[in-house]
Amino acid sequence: MNEPILTIVVPCYNEEEVLPYTFKELKGLMSELVQERLVSDRSRLLFVDDGSIDQTWTFIYKETIQNQYVRGLKLARNVGHQNALLAGLFKAQELSDCIISIDADLQDDCAVIKEFLKKYKEGYEIVYGVRVKRESDTFFKRTTAQSFYKLMKLMGVDLVYNHADFRLMSKRAVEKLEKFEEINLFLRGIVPLIGFNSTSVYYERKERKAGKTKYPLKKMLSFAFDGITSFSITPIRSVLFIGLVSFFGSLAFALYFLCLKFFGATELGWTSLITSIWLIGGLQLIAVGIIGEYIGKIYKEVKRRPKYIIDIDAYTVALPEHFKD
Ligand code: UDP
Ligand code: MG
Repeated sequence: MNEPILTIVVPCYNEEEVLPYTFKELKGLMSELVQERLVSDRSRLLFVDDGSIDQTWTFIYKETIQNQYVRGLKLARNVGHQNALLAGLFKAQELSDCIISIDADLQDDCAVIKEFLKKYKEGYEIVYGVRVKRESDTFFKRTTAQSFYKLMKLMGVDLVYNHADFRLMSKRAVEKLEKFEEINLFLRGIVPLIGFNSTSVYYERKERKAGKTKYPLKKMLSFAFDGITSFSITPIRSVLFIGLVSFFGSLAFALYFLCLKFFGATELGWTSLITSIWLIGGLQLIAVGIIGEYIGKIYKEVKRRPKYIIDIDAYTVALPEHFKD
């Protein structure tokens, strides 16, 4: 078997602080992989600029001119990590045999990429990078992340525990991924649905090399909420369940109050009345909210808007000769 053509896809959003380190590390790794004949010399590093407002694209573009391995893709505006990653995967798939996705901040251990490739050569088409320790993450991030995985499990969604978006996929797997046309995309939930021969590789997650997280609490919560509602109808089902329980509960109460009336004890409290009004009112609002969330999702899906728009393609399109040194 010839050496496979590998493309490493790196989504970047305002990453000017960390990019110099990322270029150095990944370029070094790529030359090593090529020298050791683990991958073909037509392998590439594809940096996707997700509509950054800092120097990210300038940095990427300069590198594409100076280094044979570096390529870039500039999206027309910020579409979020998942969609930026998807843009990179679909583009990379055109010219590669296998594709690895990794964050720009070097939190994931590049050294395990060799391990990924070993598994690929053994015939695995999807290799998940799984974090064994998360000591470098804050206590808050760790606990919220863990509750997220537990909640997803409770909702019946099949996720690879402690796996983020650091993974290898074969060209064929990425092609199949294109068939999942949903707009509300949550890759960690979808990739296991592809099936194929898959395995995991374990590594320790490090601290961000430089710059700040692009996932503040608000974005993290909306990501988790999207993850759940895109994959599970348990929340909407539980609304029905709560409705049924409260309906039969109130029937029982009515019976009880009727009995009290029958035996002449009619002094009923105002407190119970007002609490039940608030309780039922609250439940109704929650129910309407959950249903609204699903309807909102359907609304987004039926519009079928493009998930991303490519502004500049410096991957498949060759750069003009005079740019090269
Ligand atoms: N990212 C992106 N678009 C966004 C937000 C983030 O492409 O709108 C990229 C970011 O540049 C990084 C990766 O997604 O390469 C993961 O983001 P980050 O490291 O900030 O998340 P965390 O590791 O803190 O969860
Ligand atoms: Mg990170």
